Amino acid sequence: MTMPQCLIDLRSDTVTRPTTGMRRAMAEAAVGDDVYGDDPTVNRLQALAAGRFGFEGALFFPTGTQSNLAALMAHCGRGDEYLVGQDAHTYKYEQGGAAVLGSIQPQPLTNAADGSIALESIAAAIKPADIHFARTRLLALENTIGGRVLPPAYVRGATRLARERGLATHLDGARLFNAIVRQGGDERAAVDGFDSVSLCLSKGLGAPAGTLLLGRAPFIDAARRWRKALGGGMRQAGILAAAGLYALEHHVARLEEDHANAARLAAGLRALGLDAPAPQTNILWVAVPPAAVDGLRARLAAAGILASVDTQTRLVTHLDVSRDDVDAAVAAFGAHFHGG
Ligand SMILES: *Cc1c(COP(=O)(O)O)cnc(C)c1O
Repeated sequence: MTMPQCLIDLRSDTVTRPTTGMRRAMAEAAVGDDVYGDDPTVNRLQALAAGRFGFEGALFFPTGTQSNLAALMAHCGRGDEYLVGQDAHTYKYEQGGAAVLGSIQPQPLTNAADGSIALESIAAAIKPADIHFARTRLLALENTIGGRVLPPAYVRGATRLARERGLATHLDGARLFNAIVRQGGDERAAVDGFDSVSLCLSKGLGAPAGTLLLGRAPFIDAARRWRKALGGGMRQAGILAAAGLYALEHHVARLEEDHANAARLAAGLRALGLDAPAPQTNILWVAVPPAAVDGLRARLAAAGILASVDTQTRLVTHLDVSRDDVDAAVAAFGAHFHGG
């Protein structure tokens, strides 16, 4: 067996490494102590993001998990409740941090196949003012969710319903830029109706770390307090913010390439007879027969391809996956399923 020349990492878009240009921007960043509000590069990134998305303020966090948690804690107090999709990152993939660390009760609701939560379920889950119930304060949505873009008309309907019922709204937009690029690039339209938005710089945008939380000024002040309590008050964070600025400038429009590569990968897998629906963004899913899981994992690894192989295998394209890499991955799947 020949050793792979190089790794093709399809596990996640978190695996990207900073490019040469990004590293240069980081090395040259002007810095200060951000807990004192003194870091000029962090301040520049926050002002840029707030301006681009039409929010009063923005706050730089080390991770998306911390940004979401601080947002939930700024919106909800102890004994309050937030409505959230059963499949949402804040509910399912953050160890229940809102409940564990924020004393906020989640009310999980079923996500439909397109990632939305039925408006009737949202309406029905809002609890009346009654001493028996937690106070329903917030609706949290996620876009993209599992690589799917929430339909804009749905987002409008859900945020309007929340507002009419007195709920705040939070958007976990870890991969919102993928949705924006897919929909033609209107950043403000994508966040319209939300009180707060969390945007990861460390996924498809390719920064080594960093997430931005957007909101009104009093909300950002509250989130800044929680960020400090949660251990996210960083000092010369401009080194990281410089990577974020670089990413916002150079790595947004190119997400289109990741989407094209994901579509090419799915088409290649379908041509092999596999069930791999066309993706909307940079995440695709392929069904793998249970008996083939272990063998396929080994075959891909031998070809230098890293993937989270399971009966529903998630494959993710990003900055460090080229069109040739996609073709190599299709060839490795082909070798497994059709001999060779
Ligand atoms: C990655 C991700 C986060 C946060 O992730 P961190 O690894 O903590 O930065 C939050 N929500 C969604 C949907 C994500 O994909």
